[in-house]
Order: sequence, then C-alpha cells, then structure tokens
Amino acid sequence: MATEPKPVSVELKSSLAVVQDHSRHFSDFTFVYPVISRRSRGLSIGINVNPDKICNFDCIYCEVDRRIPGTVSRVDLNQLRDELAAMIHFAQDGGLAKEPKFNEVPWLTRDVRDIAFSGDGEPTMIANFEEVVQVVADVKREAGLHTTKIVLITDAAGLDKASVKRGLELMDVNAGEVWGKLDAGTPDYFKLVNRSNVRFERILENLLETARARPILIQTLLLKVHGQAMDADELEAYCARLNTITAGGGSIEMVQAYTIARPTPEAYATRLDKAELEAMATLIRTRTSLIVQTFD
Ligand code: SF4
Repeated sequence: MATEPKPVSVELKSSLAVVQDHSRHFSDFTFVYPVISRRSRGLSIGINVNPDKICNFDCIYCEVDRRIPGTVSRVDLNQLRDELAAMIHFAQDGGLAKEPKFNEVPWLTRDVRDIAFSGDGEPTMIANFEEVVQVVADVKREAGLHTTKIVLITDAAGLDKASVKRGLELMDVNAGEVWGKLDAGTPDYFKLVNRSNVRFERILENLLETARARPILIQTLLLKVHGQAMDADELEAYCARLNTITAGGGSIEMVQAYTIARPTPEAYATRLDKAELEAMATLIRTRTSLIVQTFD
C-alpha cells in the first residue's frame, strides 16, 4: 500500500493554502466540512449546526458573510449522522487526500483529530443541541474514534441553557472539550469587538460555571481596531477576568491567543504582527500563570 511521505515536522504554517481556507462548505454536504486546523494540529471535521448563520454576537472580525442569506435553520439529525459517517469514511479511506484542496498535506487527512462544533453562527443557540451531541458521539464511537475529541467552539452566551448543559455532560464522557471565547476585559471593549446584546457578566458567569465542571480552553482573538491594539488597562482587565475564573474554582487548561488570519468584512479590524501578539501573550502568562499558545 502506498503511503504519503510524512514531513519531519508537522508544524502547520499559516501560509499553507489549506490552512487559510476554512470554508464551511464541502461538496454537497450541509452540516459537515473538513478543515486542516492549526489549533487542532491536523484534520478537524467541522459541524456547522448554524447554516442559517444566526449568532448572538456580531464580532467585527467575523468571517461569515451574512450578506448571503443562510440556509436551513434546524439540524436534521439523520442527515447529520449520514454526512458525518460519510466524511469520516472519506478521510480514513484516503479520498480526502486526493482532493485538490488537501493534496498539499495528504499525511494529515486520514487522522481525525477532532470533530468540532464550529459553524456560521453560535452552536449553543440551536434548539436540539443535546440531540446533536448524541448523534456525533454515536457516529464517533461506531467509527472507532475513541480518542478523537468532540470540541465545542462557543461564544459562551448559551452555556447556561439546560439543553446545552446536558449536551456538555454527554461531551464529557465522549472526549469532549469546550473552547470558550473571551476577547475582552471590560463591557465596553466587549461591545466594541463582539457587538453583542448579551451581558458581558453573563459570558463571564457561564465561563466560570462551565470551567468549574470540567477544564476549558479560552480562545482570545487579539486584533487592532482602527490601528489600535487592546491597550494596557484592557489587557490587565482581561487577565483579571481569567484570574477570577481560576480563583473561583474554574479550571483553564490553556489560553489560545490568536489574531486575524483571513480577510474580515470590517476593514478597520486588522491583524497584529507576530511580535505584538507574542508581547501580549507574555503578559498574559505573567499575570495569570496559565499556558498561553499563540497562533499568528
Ligand atoms: S461568535 Fe463567531 S460566528 Fe458569531 S459573530 Fe463572532 S466570530 Fe462570527
């Protein structure tokens, strides 16, 4: 059997086209799409439970083009089950490696690192979150992917909903991980960057409560707004929020600090350079003693 050559290092450079391209549309699939993700260190099968593009945030850096209307508004569980099983089989069978988009990294396309709820909107807003998690867990188990993670990438606004909490408990026993967004230290900066009507305090409470029940990852996008990076006071306030979570009994496994990687609709939202991102990450490490990984 032919095997694809493996590089000595599997560090995923942001310049790779396949890393740049995080399209949530693949072939005629509605809910499932494959991406090569640096944060997952390989193949991540995305579950887009929000083809309707509904979100309770309106982040200034959001890549979702909401000028084009969304599609279906309810996740069809049977269709999701069929699509996910087919995508896993396609990857494991080597079909994905032959796709033009993936043929520059064929050695990464057979091992499903994670299955991630990450779509064109906020996954915790759907009505049947718990049932969706159950379907994903069932398909994962049937495919023998016992160590493959189920990742929820969330803005944290819906983590206090009863159905979401039950879904998180299902994730806990199926190699689940919660990656919660926190981009600000104050309500004003939260409003500026995330443009949400959800109360900032609710986001913080949800992160704390979720982190008390299982370790979570914090995802923080750092950027420039009209040429200005988050100022020193805001960064201190942000670090204090992380410390409040850990002091309150929450467990933060890691902070993933990253910046804009792809074009955004708001031209005034721009990326940090590597040195700026690293300097902020260093300060976060110093103030919180947390592990901080950067992705520029
Ligand atoms: S939370 Fe995610 S999907 Fe929603 S607006 Fe922000 S970046 Fe876009």
